[in-house]
Amino acid sequence: GFKCGIVGLPNVGKSTLFNALTETAAAQAANYPFCTIEPNVGEVAVPDPRLDKLSAIAKSAQIIPTRLTFVDIAGLVRGASKGEGLGNQFLANIREVDAIAHVVRCFEDSDITHVEGKIAPLADIETIETELMLADLDSLEKRVDNLSKKAKGNDKDAKEQLDLVNRTLVLLRDGKPARLVERKAEEERAFSMLGLLSSKPVLYVCNVEEGSAATGNSFSKAVEEQAAKEGAVAVVISAKIESEIATLSREERVDFLETLGLEEAGLDRLIRAGYTLLDLITYFTVGPKEARAWTIHRGTKAPAAAGVIHTDFEKGFIRAETIAYEDYVALNGEAGARDAGKLRLEGKEYTVADGDVMHFRFNT
Ligand code: GDP
Repeated sequence: GFKCGIVGLPNVGKSTLFNALTETAAAQAANYPFCTIEPNVGEVAVPDPRLDKLSAIAKSAQIIPTRLTFVDIAGLVRGASKGEGLGNQFLANIREVDAIAHVVRCFEDSDITHVEGKIAPLADIETIETELMLADLDSLEKRVDNLSKKAKGNDKDAKEQLDLVNRTLVLLRDGKPARLVERKAEEERAFSMLGLLSSKPVLYVCNVEEGSAATGNSFSKAVEEQAAKEGAVAVVISAKIESEIATLSREERVDFLETLGLEEAGLDRLIRAGYTLLDLITYFTVGPKEARAWTIHRGTKAPAAAGVIHTDFEKGFIRAETIAYEDYVALNGEAGARDAGKLRLEGKEYTVADGDVMHFRFNT
């Protein structure tokens, strides 16, 4: 599954947020037994109203949403890249996630110490990003000698890698994250093999005080502006409110959100933002037994998409009977879509679209 790591300086609200996520997962576990909960890992269902619609039309006995894993990565302090605090452990944990949710303190509270002495979200972001970039610098500099030797011996792969590493080093030395390095499509694999921390996509989570949950505040506005400049994403939430919402029933939730002037829980927005950040899309399998959502990367071809369900589906792939979500709903299900000529037979080269309702045919 896809993993999103929660990072941030101490006392910014990471644990509060993570606890809200695991409480949500625990509440979901009654309906979706696969939602596992471990001390620092929470697997939560991705809310998707389309799945409810599809299951209502097909009268599915069960609804199975797709899910996203959040990992609580505590212990980042200034100096982590030099092994201070839980430094090395922290960096190792980050290496394993697909994206980073960076929690930034945007609330004032004189009772809760800010490690850097004052509320300054942009400076906090820089502190963390700097640690990630320093760790990357260190790991790349260690590779250069070895790669140079190989490149001199006319190793073509090594030459190409060295070139990529050197371009990334230029950027890092200039204080810019590795994710901004310009690279050709064919270099993407080599780049991801470098396992650079500052190459991961980042989502800023602005933790504001309860009163600003609906509107944001001047701190969160500054983060949003910064994110827009970097082509990154920012979400405003109040971790405190989320921890309260997580304990409520579905009905209580709606009332509570309404009194706060919120349309939906911040966690739902966060989960969806994580999904968008990772460039993930959803396709559905729908029938009387179950309506289920599956996660794939945007751009995935039909056989690989089928492989997410079972490797046999990919190996023996013949075709995919495909109905666009809108057609499925407008024509009231598979039979209606078929009659209207909206059930397409797609082959191996078909790129799955977000919302496709699919039925795979395969050889066993
Ligand atoms: P972590 O160190 O980043 O995991 O931060 P915690 O989640 O442990 O939060 C640190 C302290 O800040 C705790 O006492 C929280 O109750 C408090 N806190 C978290 N979010 C908010 C908030 O939105 N407003 C206020 N006033 N306090 C908060």
